[in-house]
Amino acid sequence: MGPIAPTGFHDAYLFDLDGTIYLGDDLLPGARRLIEELRRRGIPVRFLSNNPTKAPAQYAEKLERLGLATPVGDIANTVATMTNWLVSNHPGATVFPIAERPLIDALTQAGIRISEDPAEIDIVIASYDRGFTYEKLQIAFDAIWFHRRAILVATNPDRYCPFPGGRGEPDCAAIVAAIEACTGATCQQIVGKPDPSMVTQALAGLEVDPSRCVMVGDRLCTDIELAVRAGMSSALVLTGDSTLDDVLATPEAHRPTYILERIDRLIPSWDELGWTADDETR
Ligand SMILES: [Mg+2]
Repeated sequence: MGPIAPTGFHDAYLFDLDGTIYLGDDLLPGARRLIEELRRRGIPVRFLSNNPTKAPAQYAEKLERLGLATPVGDIANTVATMTNWLVSNHPGATVFPIAERPLIDALTQAGIRISEDPAEIDIVIASYDRGFTYEKLQIAFDAIWFHRRAILVATNPDRYCPFPGGRGEPDCAAIVAAIEACTGATCQQIVGKPDPSMVTQALAGLEVDPSRCVMVGDRLCTDIELAVRAGMSSALVLTGDSTLDDVLATPEAHRPTYILERIDRLIPSWDELGWTADDETR
């Protein structure tokens, strides 16, 4: 098995960010010219991230700093999906977010009640929280196990967030595992990819059929699985987490439609544009 590139254009493109568009503070090769070419053709481009440590506005600032100015409305992440899910499914619930400032601020702005008192917490929200402490684990444990009242939900299922040089940072799965291990509870809802609500949110306002759109990402179990569940085409870029060996170890129905060594291979008309693979253009 080797790279498989598309031979035509899709109606809209959804992109993961970390490991797909950039790694750390650098755009990945071809990312800028790819996005610029899609925009030049008037094809909608949206970005979606499972990472709840930044608000969509902070992603917009980062993309602009990297030379890829993007309206905030074109970016969806789990700060917004978790807030929307709570408002729709658990209005009036008191929550305990194990989270960084952007998610806490969004919950507060949406009028969701936050508490650190285990006796009144209905929902413990696990997320990617670099301020996770034993004290927070104790509150979650007391709310779920001792008071037998809270359920556990999570922003995203990622084990780690990829960094340059093959490094990474423990992500939400580590926090979910810590809480599940001590309480015996099972996480009841994960709102990030691969939950199809991410696609609904990202494509809102576009008159496109998901089956004619493509989801592009670096992780099989989130990005590609999201496309499978939403009935979209998918493209795996080999610039982040998942490898060709991982694809081979995945059942056929859950494999990507396309496999790309670099992200600008999404554009089928390289010859016409004069692009080459040695091009280090970002
Ligand atoms: Mg990624």
